[in-house]
Amino acid sequence: MTTTRIDQLRTHLQAQGLEALAAVPGANLHYLAGMDFSTKLRLTTLIIPLIGTPVLVLPALELERAKAQVRGEVQIITWSDGEGPTAALAKAAALTNLAGKRIGIEHNVMRVFELRGLEAAAPASEIIDATPLLSAMRMTKDSAELAAMREAVRLIEQTLHETIAAMRVGMTEQAVAEIWMNAIRATGCPPSFDVAVGSGPNGANPHHTNGERQLQDGDLVVLDGGVYFNGYASDITRTIAIGTPNAEALRIYELVLAANTAGRAACRPESTGAQIDLAARTIIEQGGYGPQFVHRTGHGLGMEIHEPPFIVGGSHEPLTPGMTFTVEPGIYLPGVVGVRIEDDMVITETGAESLTSFPRNLISIS
Ligand code: ZN
Ligand code: ZN
Repeated sequence: MTTTRIDQLRTHLQAQGLEALAAVPGANLHYLAGMDFSTKLRLTTLIIPLIGTPVLVLPALELERAKAQVRGEVQIITWSDGEGPTAALAKAAALTNLAGKRIGIEHNVMRVFELRGLEAAAPASEIIDATPLLSAMRMTKDSAELAAMREAVRLIEQTLHETIAAMRVGMTEQAVAEIWMNAIRATGCPPSFDVAVGSGPNGANPHHTNGERQLQDGDLVVLDGGVYFNGYASDITRTIAIGTPNAEALRIYELVLAANTAGRAACRPESTGAQIDLAARTIIEQGGYGPQFVHRTGHGLGMEIHEPPFIVGGSHEPLTPGMTFTVEPGIYLPGVVGVRIEDDMVITETGAESLTSFPRNLISIS
């Protein structure tokens, strides 16, 4: 699989007129070569030329870790703290013929010292942002990636069931979040972010921090969480009721549910993020709460919690099979109540599938 990805990368590089990629530790290096390093300030770069063996420049103390990770043909050049990375980089640049070449880098990941090192090692080269190219590759998930996402979804849904079963009137948001985080830890998988629990008026703040407010009869509670399985994330939101919420809260819930349903129904090959956003947003606007739907309808999901494609007006790229993203409309009445219902979608050959299957009808606990 890894060799295939590097082959795919080369095809994309060539199509963009690039002659090499210099990747630093992060999601893209993991995606391309299956390598994970926590090298902090020590320079680590994988140089992938169009032709020839990729070269990994690496701190010597990471060598054993690298050997365990490297698949396929990669030449490793190490540097020690005493000598610094300059000579190793120069050697790697010579081996990959980098001087004067058009080199792709990750504008949003590579740090200045890594860039300066690369520029010094490859004089007269042209440094070009390869982020769009890498995002385009990562947007379409293969079967192994989808299998990991399905498992990430299964695990977060299982822990959400456990959490809801344990929720009671009088518990604080923090206590609920603790129950959920413990359930996630018990799966052996890391959370993809700290779970969010917004009760009553706190649910109206999409970026609320779990606090000391206690669950009360009549509350709606927004629960948002996810886990990573094998490096791939899930991300789900459900809103549940404590006892019986008032009529307006119930009306908002039904509107968000209808918007979520319309958004999911609009997902198919060749549909665009803008079309899906519009499908969900129109329901909420027609219900009279357009201004209270304050965020985009969704975001791409994969190795990162937020990645392309974005489900938002202005997103006119046609979606294609294998693309994964969330549909998560919400209505937020500041100081009163909030509702969000979030699902994880994958575009298929014939339409789309919701990876999440947690019940969407309003669950009420006492
Ligand atoms: Zn979420
Ligand atoms: Zn989300």
